[in-house]
Amino acid sequence: MADSLRRSRPWYDYVERFAGIAGTQEGLDILPDGEFLPPIPLNCVEEDAAKRIKEAFGGQRHLIHSRVANITQPKPEQNRVNCQYRNKCWLGCPFGAYFSTQSATLPAAVATGNLTLRPFSIVSQVLYDKDRQRARGVEVIDAETHETHEYTADVVFLNASTFNTTWILMNSATDVWEGGLGSSSGELGHNVMDHHFRCGASGDVEGYLDKYYFGRRPAGFYIPRFRNVGDEQRSYVRGFGYQGAASRQGWDREIAELNIGADLKQALTQPGGWTIGMTGFGEMLPDHDNRISLDHSVRDKWGLPVLSINVELKQNERDMRRDMVQDAVDLLEAAGVKNVKGDVGDYAPGMGIHEMGTARMGRDPKTSVLNSHNQVWDAPNVFVTDGACMTSSSCVNPSLTYMALTARAVDYAVEELKRGICHESSRITQNDRADDRYRDDWRQIPICL
Ligand SMILES: Cc1cc2nc3c(=O)[nH]c(=O)nc-3n(C[C@H](O)[C@H](O)[C@H](O)COP(=O)(O)OP(=O)(O)OC[C@H]3O[C@@H](n4cnc5c(N)ncnc54)[C@H](O)[C@@H]3O)c2cc1C
Ligand code: SF4
Repeated sequence: MADSLRRSRPWYDYVERFAGIAGTQEGLDILPDGEFLPPIPLNCVEEDAAKRIKEAFGGQRHLIHSRVANITQPKPEQNRVNCQYRNKCWLGCPFGAYFSTQSATLPAAVATGNLTLRPFSIVSQVLYDKDRQRARGVEVIDAETHETHEYTADVVFLNASTFNTTWILMNSATDVWEGGLGSSSGELGHNVMDHHFRCGASGDVEGYLDKYYFGRRPAGFYIPRFRNVGDEQRSYVRGFGYQGAASRQGWDREIAELNIGADLKQALTQPGGWTIGMTGFGEMLPDHDNRISLDHSVRDKWGLPVLSINVELKQNERDMRRDMVQDAVDLLEAAGVKNVKGDVGDYAPGMGIHEMGTARMGRDPKTSVLNSHNQVWDAPNVFVTDGACMTSSSCVNPSLTYMALTARAVDYAVEELKRGICHESSRITQNDRADDRYRDDWRQIPICL
């Protein structure tokens, strides 16, 4: 464990430096530190809760700054300005402060002069050369014209997001393997994972009525996993962390009462009292029965088979969810919060939007789809580095790990190419390049605020 962490750390550092992550060094084994920009500060209520929780649980449980991909210092080399604290990140950040494809990776790729972007393109399969046991490229359907094109390449990276990547594999080389490229182990499509959540607690905080905070923070606090760590052992395995925030109520606090009149208007010119809440994100174990497959009886408008998804929570997750509620209540009560209410919301796999697994990495081609460099065992010039490659889900947000794995695999692939290992088929030809109608699309970044 410690050894694998040491080996993977440079790649986490690499992507953290590039993306820009705001956070604090905490020195916790369970949540390794990284190369962080200054944090988005906790507010006064969260700071006080952090102190009280530390005292109440003998330093075994921690409330820390959330670690977020919003830059708190400018990155002029990437044309990105620091965060303006308006919390509209999901609309697309006009300052480039929120890390995204549009703000960071696409401009960097364009700057190399080597990028050809072809939108409205559906990769329908990896083209497989049986004789050489290698991929020779991909087949693409133009989403608008429905025309089919072939693109040849020395190396193919599949990063279509977890399920779509596995969909492409399942739809490829079916004349060689009925279950698709990468299915020789019988593991392709299996071991779907998500983060189960919507179990937590919330309550009211007395006092601090003379205190406010700057702007609208695109951040809050994080409570790293403490269950099944050290002495806090449970009947289930693994654990969960909490994401939460404290804030003052706004004018909408009176909507439910449907009040009217001058007194109401006057009251609403002032912020309301403080509330605090948090929800747990729990680890879901890989289970062979949790799987996706192609449903050839249902086709989309391009004639492609759709995915059938069969996934459910198992006993380990169900047991964990009880603790996720009760521990949240205990933590908030220990922090002096009043009127604490535990909360169990509906959850179905997929709602955590952290889908993982289905093309697991491993050491043995008989039990895994990918090797330790993210290469498909059945076609070593095909790399899968998104969530499909994950063998376990942990309880932390996953995307940084996909990025670190991608950077590591790209470095490996480049070295292999230099050594002439991958293979020598032609690169994208001029005729295959995107036509003019697409050339500047990447610049059309939506404006928010
Ligand atoms: C609302 C929301 C909030 C989230 N918050 C967090 C968070 O706080 N932290 C975190 O770590 N993760 C978070 N996630 C998860 C995170 O967004 C994903 O893990 C991440 O985007 C995965 O990156 P990706 O490049 O693998 O896939 P994507 O970002 O989904 O990119 C895949 C791309 O491939 C394209 N594509 C798919 N199929 C094909 C095909 N057949 N041919 C051609 N192109 C194809 C898609 O159009 C898409 O552009 C969140 C997700 C959502 C929806
Ligand atoms: S959208 Fe606003 S709050 Fe979000 S990162 Fe950009 S500047 Fe910051």
